[in-house]
Amino acid sequence: MDCIFCKIINKEIPSDFIYEDGDVIVIKDIHPLAPIHYLIILKEHIQSISHLENSHQEVVSKMIFTAKKIAEKLGLKGYKLVFNVGREGGQVIDHLHLHLLGGWGKIENLKLKI
Ligand code: 5GP
Ligand code: ZN
Repeated sequence: MDCIFCKIINKEIPSDFIYEDGDVIVIKDIHPLAPIHYLIILKEHIQSISHLENSHQEVVSKMIFTAKKIAEKLGLKGYKLVFNVGREGGQVIDHLHLHLLGGWGKIENLKLKI
């Protein structure tokens, strides 16, 4: 299948995995929109949130909990979790993924120290 995230998951395209288990991988976004920008990508190829079936409830919950654990490990006090859905929703890659965005607090702290 001609899907860039499937190729990353299958290691056909080299990428640094921040985390991996049986259901998800986590990688840094190649074009970060925040000081910290990770993608939690489901291993199963599902196009988007709008393509989910009831049987997917557990794995989608797993994606959110993975993001929560990574945010805790990074010491983020606040962050954004974003699913872009469809072209009108800003989705470019048609393989379900969750954006974890944060790190602004650290930048503010840095400014205060200068
Ligand atoms: P979307 O707009 O589909 O929700 O987000 C797709 C995201 O994937 C974008 O933020 C984009 O920067 C990121 N991305 C696209 N291609 C690659 C890639 O080859 N490697 C990584 N790490 N991120 C990618
Ligand atoms: Zn895919």
